[in-house]
Amino acid sequence: MSETIVAGRETVLEVPERIAGIEVPRVLGRVEAAELGPTLIVVGGMHGNEPAGVKALQRILARLESDPVGLDRGRLVGLTGNRKALAAKRRYLVNDLNRYWLPGRVARLRASTGPLDGEDEELRDLNREIERQLFEARETVYLLDLHTTSGPELPFATHDDTLRNRPFAFAFPVPVVLGLEEELVGTLSSYVGTLGVVTAGFESGQHDAEAAVDRAEAAIWIALEASGVLLKDNHPEVEAARHRLARECKGLPRVVEVRHRHAITPDDSYRMKPGYENFQAVAAGEPIGRDGRGPVVSPFSGLILMPLYQKQGADGFFIVQRVARMWLEASAVVRRWRLERLLPLLPGVRRHPDLPDSFVVDRRYARWLAREFFHLLGYKRLGDASRVLIMSRRLHDRSQ
Ligand SMILES: [Zn+2]
Repeated sequence: MSETIVAGRETVLEVPERIAGIEVPRVLGRVEAAELGPTLIVVGGMHGNEPAGVKALQRILARLESDPVGLDRGRLVGLTGNRKALAAKRRYLVNDLNRYWLPGRVARLRASTGPLDGEDEELRDLNREIERQLFEARETVYLLDLHTTSGPELPFATHDDTLRNRPFAFAFPVPVVLGLEEELVGTLSSYVGTLGVVTAGFESGQHDAEAAVDRAEAAIWIALEASGVLLKDNHPEVEAARHRLARECKGLPRVVEVRHRHAITPDDSYRMKPGYENFQAVAAGEPIGRDGRGPVVSPFSGLILMPLYQKQGADGFFIVQRVARMWLEASAVVRRWRLERLLPLLPGVRRHPDLPDSFVVDRRYARWLAREFFHLLGYKRLGDASRVLIMSRRLHDRSQ
């Protein structure tokens, strides 16, 4: 670790010797402005075969260390996700660390004092570091989670769709994918979102592509401005980053929502047909891959997202559809008006007997439209039994 003082700003930069070796540090670096302000935490490598975010963080931290202009307010903290998996160049060792953040498990691991294995230890250690940042923070804490994907990819952003997270996710001039967090249970972003952290995810391209590192770097510059750590319109790097991403995503939809996830297990032996890429149009009934039972077809027409071209992973592909911007504006209005008070008046909808801010929806009355309607009001699916849906309001939806 090296420590330098630059123009009254403290810069602590820790760069690992070999990211593919055994020693991958938890804290890649931390750069602090002279003036107090927001905290931006950026996490790279939640999946160990996705080193692009780590490399992008190293570049930016090195740049900020040598840059006398530095940050305007607050701090940037660069963290690694699954260190053991990064060292092994695998998505994960035993458990997917980005499907592992269930509140009960976090509480149990947090309380444990003895040695732990694999992802249990990674979660406890990463959680400890994030809690330290939350404890020290004087203003809002933002978290950007950097990922890459296995197919040839264009970038996109994700977020738990709360009014608080929206401006952060929409700061990136790339397609914003709604509803992914409802399909993926136990993500870091969803967990720290419940602690009041403003979150977004950014998928920057194919795992080992140099362009994925460049795009992740662009995303960090934009996040620095969106979080207020850099002042608006004050830094040419941010403007260049926006231009780069906007140019690459020209012609792509601004907002899409997940309509279908093709869940797989290793027993399925699922194989994607080659050549699919993000946001490629597919027709209903189009054969997209094969598994042990035969061809797998797209159940809807729409755009394909994250086609799986690697061995590890539980998501074969997603089908997304365009969302009109008007829908987002309408949803912001109905959430501010708290229209959910009227929900129990609808047929087939009743309050959940035990869970606060949750409703049980009878599918006989309310089919997929109910889910759309609940999304509009800021609810996400919590459970999915055959006859009922449980929809629960996301925390921190109105705090801005
Ligand atoms: Zn990932």
